[in-house]
Amino acid sequence: MTERAYDFDLFVIGGGSGGVRAARIAAQAGAKVGLAEEYRMGGTCVIRGCVPKKFMVYTSKYGKEIRHSAGYGWSVGDVSYDHAKFAAGMRAEVDRLSAIYDRNLKSAGAEVFNDRAEFEDAHTLRLTGSGQTVTAGKILIATGGRPWRPSPEELPGVEHTITSNEVFEMETLPERMVIAGGGYIAVEFAHVFAGLGVEVCLVYRGETVLRGFDEDVRLAVHEGLKEAGVRVITKTVFTRIEMTDDGLCVKLENGHEVKADVVMMAVGRQANTDGLGCEKAGVRLGARGEVAVDDWSRTGAANIFAVGDVTDRVNLTPVAIREGHAFADTEFGGKPWKMDHTDIPTAVFSQPEVGTVGISESQARREHGEIDIYKTKFRPMKNMLNGDQTRTFMKLVVRASDQRVLGVHVVGDDAAEMIQMAGIAVKMGATKDDFDRTCAVHPSAAEELVTMRTKWLPEVV
Ligand code: NDP
Repeated sequence: MTERAYDFDLFVIGGGSGGVRAARIAAQAGAKVGLAEEYRMGGTCVIRGCVPKKFMVYTSKYGKEIRHSAGYGWSVGDVSYDHAKFAAGMRAEVDRLSAIYDRNLKSAGAEVFNDRAEFEDAHTLRLTGSGQTVTAGKILIATGGRPWRPSPEELPGVEHTITSNEVFEMETLPERMVIAGGGYIAVEFAHVFAGLGVEVCLVYRGETVLRGFDEDVRLAVHEGLKEAGVRVITKTVFTRIEMTDDGLCVKLENGHEVKADVVMMAVGRQANTDGLGCEKAGVRLGARGEVAVDDWSRTGAANIFAVGDVTDRVNLTPVAIREGHAFADTEFGGKPWKMDHTDIPTAVFSQPEVGTVGISESQARREHGEIDIYKTKFRPMKNMLNGDQTRTFMKLVVRASDQRVLGVHVVGDDAAEMIQMAGIAVKMGATKDDFDRTCAVHPSAAEELVTMRTKWLPEVV
């Protein structure tokens, strides 16, 4: 038997979605794999992201459901909510999932180190807790990202704020909350806390939240926030946060101030590369500290790769998983393929939620010339009896020349579930005619996606 030149064929830094998938696939292909995780197995998604966030979305929706059930004949007695009880259940489920990640990895044959790994050179890592050194033929950086906050010099009083990391640790709900930002996280948590009865104020530097999404979607979500009782202040930013006898006082650039018990910064995320020693290994970083990679997730160093949020490409769990899988299949499984970053379906768990795949109307007009638009806004059947005025919005962006559907955008209940399926059609290159030929499911909201027949024309004044 030939002796291995290194301790491991592959060593993965980070036990999140991308790292765990890569480690498991490589180990199943026969590679000797090690993985180091400094915090808890599962990464952002399982521990302090998608999974606990979705539970918070579910719990916040119950209040509205209970109120609206009256329209369907239900009468419910005293209603109360115990956040600590909910949080205990949520954490138990997170623990269960984290343990599954650990188990699956070990049963695939990988060795797991509960430790932090830092580069010594391109083939050597030091485990900082134990002081042990390990060597590997290939190394995968999958260290993810973390919430970004301005420094205390940039924003005095920022130390009084929390981020999405701490939001899952709350035992009680605040009365008043201010959230900075207008991206996925700010919008989702504004709805979560408003749904739980917290007085929420969202401060966004732009005009309409969710920059980068289709313009109609942005408007619908922006209106949805206001309808949910969120006070939305736009075109301004925080200038300082002060602790007062009446809680925190957030001073805004526009001269106004807002009082709050909890202030949450949701102004973006940054790659976890600090102190990793990338420079010792020849791994090049981009302007925001992200690991620069090519389409094959290769870094500047020949034997070092990176996947997931640390590369700051498309920062979504399923993307990290596919990047990790593609890397392991290519490098260890003899099946080369690379992640295709186009037409990735995504959801924003606002209330109602957003489901979107493909490109926005403005991007389509910029890149594809003449575009046909189909759109509809309606009160879903469920809301006819319960007094809920919320409407569902749907839009198809279609290339005029060949009728290919370039974008599907939904704002409404179950939009995330719908867009997963619509995503298949868009990925396959479906045309508007393919949508028209598809028989509707009745009665449903989704049927509107295949029954929009009239092109939308801008109103001529
Ligand atoms: P985003 O990048 O989505 O949004 C950041 C927000 O903060 C933007 O509204 C941005 O404004 C604003 N902002 C940035 N810098 C400043 C500043 N200095 N002062 C004031 N405002 C500022 O980040 P998130 O943290 O919300 O989410 C990070 C990523 O995580 C998402 O992009 C997404 O990929 C992923 N995610 C996915 C979820 C899902 O799939 N449902 C849920 C949560 C996160 P502007 O628009 O003007 O740039």
